[in-house]
Amino acid sequence: MIFKNARVITSKGIIETDFLVEEGKIKEIKKDIVPKDEVVDLSGYYVLPSVIDGHTHFNSRFLGAREVIPTADDYKSGSEVSLAGGITSFINFIDPAKEDPVGSAKSEIEKASAQSMTDYSFHLIVRQGEHIKYLDEIFRLGVKSVKVFMAYKGSMQLDDENIMKAMRKVKELGGVIAIHAENGDVIDELQKEYGDRDEAVYHALTRPSEVEEEAVNRVSMMAYLTKAKAYIVHVSSPNSLKIIESWRKKGAEIYGETCPHYLVFDESYYYRPDGKRFIMSPPLRSKEMRKELVDNLTRIFTLGSDYSGYMSVYKDKALSYIEVPNGVASTEFLVPTIMNLMFDGFISPEHVAEITSEDQIKLYGIKGKGFAVGSDADFAVIRREDWVVKDWHGKMDHSIYEGVKFKAKVVRTYLRGELVFEEDVKGRRKGELLKR
Ligand SMILES: [Zn+2]
Repeated sequence: MIFKNARVITSKGIIETDFLVEEGKIKEIKKDIVPKDEVVDLSGYYVLPSVIDGHTHFNSRFLGAREVIPTADDYKSGSEVSLAGGITSFINFIDPAKEDPVGSAKSEIEKASAQSMTDYSFHLIVRQGEHIKYLDEIFRLGVKSVKVFMAYKGSMQLDDENIMKAMRKVKELGGVIAIHAENGDVIDELQKEYGDRDEAVYHALTRPSEVEEEAVNRVSMMAYLTKAKAYIVHVSSPNSLKIIESWRKKGAEIYGETCPHYLVFDESYYYRPDGKRFIMSPPLRSKEMRKELVDNLTRIFTLGSDYSGYMSVYKDKALSYIEVPNGVASTEFLVPTIMNLMFDGFISPEHVAEITSEDQIKLYGIKGKGFAVGSDADFAVIRREDWVVKDWHGKMDHSIYEGVKFKAKVVRTYLRGELVFEEDVKGRRKGELLKR
């Protein structure tokens, strides 16, 4: 199949070209390929190749004080949401059983292989020091990254000693470590101080940006000392980006990821009647900080959706801000958000290609993806068009993006040269485990 007249967004700029796809792979990239087979004319469209969402929590759960709350989407519906958003690969977090992280990893890989419409891989959450000894075996399964939490005291939070140990092990194994950077002890104290309140804004008041910035600085120092390759997930404060950059200048291999919701919304949303639906951690920041984050996008290394969608019943009915399951469903709007910022001149096409695909490929050591001869022909076809979010894919019964205006719309998604999304997800093609 020949795709003609595409405007492909790459780290070398927007390239106007044709490309030939054979057996799912890109065979040739050049202008004016002579048509002999089937031709798809992409005149007037943008092509964003091989978008990887390195941060999803499909088929996951939130451990509340009273109950365990499941995320709305599993690998099937989650991968459909991804395709609808132009994303062709995701990396999901495995939240392992306390006793058997290897068994948890095997079972998640099996479930995704049975259900996923996109390609997939995994990071393992190291919930406790005990899990570190299983990492050799986990890496052999193809899971080559781990995540640690500096927040969620009493459940996920790992102390500095074990973070250092996890970093050394990941360094030894040649992987990468992701960090949720917020000071969990300080948050716990602030929550006690404010008490059990109903209003969503207390979520932001008990997790001020300084709590994130301190943790970012502390864990960057640990990455510097252990020489581990590390990245900080869901950076919400522009100051954190500057801190990360200063440690990188010193020689640390540390990077920052941000998520679409920090670029679109600010903390004023916590004052809305549906404010609890906007609760995620770290929280939304002030109008000024959101603006500054957008102005500092050049300092961002990757973009991840941090999919953690919970049905409205769990969000709205929670008795206090502390009990609201943390997380939102941004996956379908990741590409529209960043393309919007590109059309508005806040980010260059080169950098869009890097943070959505090329830097992810480097960071996670992914093979066979990206816009190059020999790679899988994975790409989103995007039209410049004004539209307002009225509907979405997957199982979520609400979307924080309802009513948001975008200038870019994903109209088609191709996986290995096959049309897998056009208004709805097509075919039964199963995803494959990413090679890393
Ligand atoms: Zn996350």
